[in-house]
Amino acid sequence: MPSFLPRTTDIAIIGGGIMGTSLAWQLASRGAGRVTLFERATVAAGASGKTGALLRQHYTNRPEAVLAHASLDVFKHWPDIVGGDPVHVPAPLVVTFASGPSDQENLARLRRNVAMQNAVGIRSRVITPSELHDLQPFARVDDLVAAAYEPDSGYVDAVAACRTMATAAIRAGARVVEGCPVIAIEAEGDHVMGVRTPEGSVAAGTVVCAAGAWSTTLLADIGVAVPLQALRVQVAILHRPLEFDAAHYVYLDTAAGIFCRPSGAGRTLVGVGGGDQHDPVDPDHYDERNDPSYPALAIAAISRRFPAMIRAAYLHGYAGLYDMTPDAHPVLGRRGPDGLYLMLGFSGAGFKKGPAVGQAMAQLILDGQSSLLDLSPFALERFASEAWRRPWSDSEYLFTSDFGHRF
Ligand SMILES: Cc1cc2nc3c(=O)[nH]c(=O)nc-3n(C[C@H](O)[C@H](O)[C@H](O)COP(=O)(O)OP(=O)(O)OC[C@H]3O[C@@H](n4cnc5c(N)ncnc54)[C@H](O)[C@@H]3O)c2cc1C
Repeated sequence: MPSFLPRTTDIAIIGGGIMGTSLAWQLASRGAGRVTLFERATVAAGASGKTGALLRQHYTNRPEAVLAHASLDVFKHWPDIVGGDPVHVPAPLVVTFASGPSDQENLARLRRNVAMQNAVGIRSRVITPSELHDLQPFARVDDLVAAAYEPDSGYVDAVAACRTMATAAIRAGARVVEGCPVIAIEAEGDHVMGVRTPEGSVAAGTVVCAAGAWSTTLLADIGVAVPLQALRVQVAILHRPLEFDAAHYVYLDTAAGIFCRPSGAGRTLVGVGGGDQHDPVDPDHYDERNDPSYPALAIAAISRRFPAMIRAAYLHGYAGLYDMTPDAHPVLGRRGPDGLYLMLGFSGAGFKKGPAVGQAMAQLILDGQSSLLDLSPFALERFASEAWRRPWSDSEYLFTSDFGHRF
């Protein structure tokens, strides 16, 4: 056993994405004893290194709006709260709503949702297509009925965020062990005993699975069935033509079927939505490159919103994984043998919630419950009956292009 790998720890965290690093930092900062994070590759090797990292707070359900809103504050004040350099790039965000058969129903839902978001403390308002055009004159708006406008949003450098979170965790006393896969969670009777790695076993009274799309097999091996599907989703980085030099906002563009944001000077990150763009794959064997047809598809899709982008150039791109649950809400809480916690299933929309989820899970583990919010709606038990099919609010939207996950 290498000297860097302890034989025992109090809390073992599996996975070094935004969730695992955020939890490690929260636990270590609270003096939770020996905290060890096991990452099979490098920090941010999974979805957290491939994410768009758009910081949308626009949700149709309150619990996730609370998590997104609380996390935005951490991203905005990163150097003071977590440390290191700033990771947040401030920018307004718009969520577009297409004109069409469902537009009046969606508009009513939109108004209710924005009112709920305002009650949570989120600055958001409904704007007309012509207001959006005044703000973003290069954007086509004739296909829209309205948009939700969040002036305080933006996006983050996701890899930098995970790395500084891991560094902050180490500074607070945690161990972060890269290149060390957990090959099994060990349990005896009704209690977890630790984790097994190729270098040997590490005893732990508490084990947290934050292994994203790779969680299913680890958990199945100790009898915890998690209904996760790994979906392959692509993004491309495009070079904007010089005539379109102005930085555009962050868009969750349900009308054009894209999400996009600036990505450095003159560049735009874009992902194309729609069910046909989300392929179920084996997380251990999937193509991390763009399909050959993806650059043309992405350019055509983004030019529906920004006509000048028809002259954009493809720079590069990649494919990452959504760890989808059946209802597209995450799984948070205890399950299986005593001492086992689940922190997974973020369904393509977790990055923005990472800091607050880490805080809430640390409270659950150390205090028995979270004072930030009630985590019970996120329990895995919901899938034991048909109850999960019920929407979490009566104001979910009717979209043809839903990016594979609900808001
Ligand atoms: C293309 C794309 C775009 C996205 N856009 C957005 C967005 O704009 N906004 C947003 O909020 N979210 C977005 N998401 C979703 C977001 O990235 C994820 O929800 C979030 O990063 C999940 O973090 P995680 O820590 O749960 O999982 P991951 O980041 O996947 O981390 C899991 C980690 O566990 C490690 N691991 C796996 N198995 C083991 C093992 N056996 N032992 C040890 N380590 C293991 C992996 O290597 C990985 O590093 C996007 C995702 C993708 C793929």
